[in-house]
Amino acid sequence: MSEDDLVCRRCDRPVRSNRDYYETFERMHYVCFHYEFEHDMSDADPDEDCGVAGCPSAGVARHRDRLVATVRELLLDWSDGPPATWQNHSLPHYLEALAAWLHDSDGYYANLGVPVPRNGWEVIADALRAAAVYE
Ligand SMILES: [Zn+2]
Ligand SMILES: [Zn+2]
Repeated sequence: MSEDDLVCRRCDRPVRSNRDYYETFERMHYVCFHYEFEHDMSDADPDEDCGVAGCPSAGVARHRDRLVATVRELLLDWSDGPPATWQNHSLPHYLEALAAWLHDSDGYYANLGVPVPRNGWEVIADALRAAAVYE
């Protein structure tokens, strides 16, 4: 830590990303400010979306719900037996495709011209869908 580092008064770590907002966030990290003043007001669990815009915990809950929805959609494909749109109709084939797709996932996103999602939930949702047809 150097002398001109701004220090967060909640966690005692240097503030680097949001230096311009140091005073706005009452000499804290944005995240520290949020959990100190905004998140706790709603009595929300720190890991759960408190409903305030920009809540750092919001992503987890929302991505989880989307992943659950993806799994349910895939299950629905099977309501009339093995779906014609799937290539992999047995669990071993599906799991093999899932592993292969995850292994090659960097290439998948590179082909789309987008960065690999930072959020693992999103990658898993893509993987579960892709493994239905991946060979
Ligand atoms: Zn902090
Ligand atoms: Zn929050």
